Amino acid sequence: MKIIRAKNLGFCYGVKRSLAMAQKEYPLPVYTYGELIHNKRIVDMLERRGIKAINNLSRINSGTIIIRSHGAPKEIIEEAKEKGLTIVDATCTFVERIRKIVSEKYSDGYKILIFGKKDHPEIIGINSLCDYSAIVIDSEELPELNFSDKVCLVAQTTASAEKFHNIINKIRKCSLKTVEIFDTICYTTMERQREAELLSQKCDKMLVIGDPKSSNTSKLKDICVRFSSTYLITNADELKSIKFNVGDNIGIVAGASAPTESITEVIQYMENNYTEAQNEEFLQAVDAVGTNGKLKDGKRMKVKVTAADEKGITVNFGVKIDGYISADEADLNDAYNPDNYKPGDELDVILLSAKAEDGLYRFSKKKVDKIKEGDKIVDTIRNGEIFELVVDRETKGGLIGKLGTYTVFVPASQIKEKYIHDLKPFIGKTLRLTQLEIDDSKRRIVASQKVILERERKEREEIFWANVIPGVIVNGKVKGISKFGAFVSVDGYDCLVHISDVSWTKFRSIDDVIHTGKKYDFVVLKADREKGKVSLGYKQLQKHPFELAMENHPVGSEFVGKVTSIMPFGAFVEVEPGVEGLVHVSEASNVYVKNINDVFKVGDEVKVKVFAIDPDEKKITLSAKACMPAPTEEEKAVKAEKKESKPRAPKKREIVKEDDSEWSDEDTGNNPFAELLKDLKD
Ligand code: SF4
Repeated sequence: MKIIRAKNLGFCYGVKRSLAMAQKEYPLPVYTYGELIHNKRIVDMLERRGIKAINNLSRINSGTIIIRSHGAPKEIIEEAKEKGLTIVDATCTFVERIRKIVSEKYSDGYKILIFGKKDHPEIIGINSLCDYSAIVIDSEELPELNFSDKVCLVAQTTASAEKFHNIINKIRKCSLKTVEIFDTICYTTMERQREAELLSQKCDKMLVIGDPKSSNTSKLKDICVRFSSTYLITNADELKSIKFNVGDNIGIVAGASAPTESITEVIQYMENNYTEAQNEEFLQAVDAVGTNGKLKDGKRMKVKVTAADEKGITVNFGVKIDGYISADEADLNDAYNPDNYKPGDELDVILLSAKAEDGLYRFSKKKVDKIKEGDKIVDTIRNGEIFELVVDRETKGGLIGKLGTYTVFVPASQIKEKYIHDLKPFIGKTLRLTQLEIDDSKRRIVASQKVILERERKEREEIFWANVIPGVIVNGKVKGISKFGAFVSVDGYDCLVHISDVSWTKFRSIDDVIHTGKKYDFVVLKADREKGKVSLGYKQLQKHPFELAMENHPVGSEFVGKVTSIMPFGAFVEVEPGVEGLVHVSEASNVYVKNINDVFKVGDEVKVKVFAIDPDEKKITLSAKACMPAPTEEEKAVKAEKKESKPRAPKKREIVKEDDSEWSDEDTGNNPFAELLKDLKD
């Protein structure tokens, strides 16, 4: 019988994260909203630690509520806030992504279509964000949709990837004006489903480990039954009722919430009862004694204690000559105590020499114990658990180290994601490994670090892409600056801040605004997973200078600003860096000004009063005249003189006279554009 395990077994990222969060210290009592994960073993364990699962908050008035990886309806979160509970939000990043998409699209007027189970807690939580208006479908049948509908399609994180892609193809063919599709099935679900499909195609029987209530476990079962006899089991006890045949290939997959203990138990049960290793060990033991009575060095055997004293243990193994285990070969920790060995006790030993010395065969129990200890470690890594190994030496094509009594070989191609040619630097270093192959008979393990690195990179990638939704704020480190923008590393991924998104105001170099090596918050502007490109904005998180200008210089306030440019109709004065206000020529002085250049020149500092602000047009009207005292009689006379010396064409004056009240010189101060028009007419 061959047992083939899927590569991805054990808790997924979201489950591990929620469990880690639940282990921390919080104000008591601590509750989880619903079962933290769909697994009785874990729920019972949490209950033993005093963490109780509840389905509503009606009786809870203090303490902590942990929101599980599925998320919770928004009313529950609001209720918890109102009650002043400590909220620990363990909603999985991938679920959070759907929640953000749905909230945003719903407020943009989209109809929300979800592929998933209507009564699943993840879907109930998501549906609450669009006021329970979502259409939830759990088959490939599309609901009736109108051409004019704006539709947003998402999927439950644990939905069937195959079915969802069929739905996507169907909806693309519908004549809808607007449809936005988000593939929100989480990567761990997709990988496990793909593995389940491949494994079940080459296995006679499939064991799906997990809780029947778990959505992703049920999906795995649905996939496996299509290709082989499938059994959904929660623990090793349930294996007893399954009939396995000699020569069967047995595949093992597990749901994302199946604990390692359950998986290990199942694998150990299968290996102990059905694999060749077990048979081989048995044959070796028989062979050690041999049918012709010949003994072989180094064989493992079972012997029975006949007597024990300070010097050692006398044993018998069914032949005329007794065996002997000296005190220094009796105990792994060199703590031999004859009182622990009673006549009749069975011991697992290794024959040190097939030649009897002083009329006794010599055995070692210590060596077997060492092997067993090695076995114990090896047993914990059989289902892919990560283990550490100190590299002893290099060999042709890889690295060698010892794990208990096993020799571990790491091929050069399995050390990093790229092939490693120079192996020397790894000697004495510790590698994090997962086993690829364990050969118990030869006590050899082939292991890989590359598999872990690839898996972790993929996990980081998935989390990264789930988080970079336009509008989300991320923290990143500026790695470098070029002519067209800044390269920013967010969780190890290079993103670009285009030069136009660095600042609202002019700058000489990007380095004047953000500095290489420093960390800043940025907003995601665009994320294109297919092209692997993410655009970030820095200026979008800074106050727009116009907002600053409005805050610092409200209507009626006065300030001293610099003249930045001069036009025939007036002068522009800096209000805030990047924001200018206009002092119309009629507002430049308390006396008549014919030419603005007579009063202002670029660089002058002038006191001005804010007359008006138009936030829509982003215009600020200023007056220098309003900050000046009323003109003296003498100034008025000069003004009158200047007016006299300025003849006007009668025709034009007639036209002006039509609206004389508005166009008189005295009144131009109330109409900032009057002088401009007058100049144009002149
Ligand atoms: S199955 Fe996926 S979405 Fe669900 S908790 Fe695990 S990683 Fe998160």
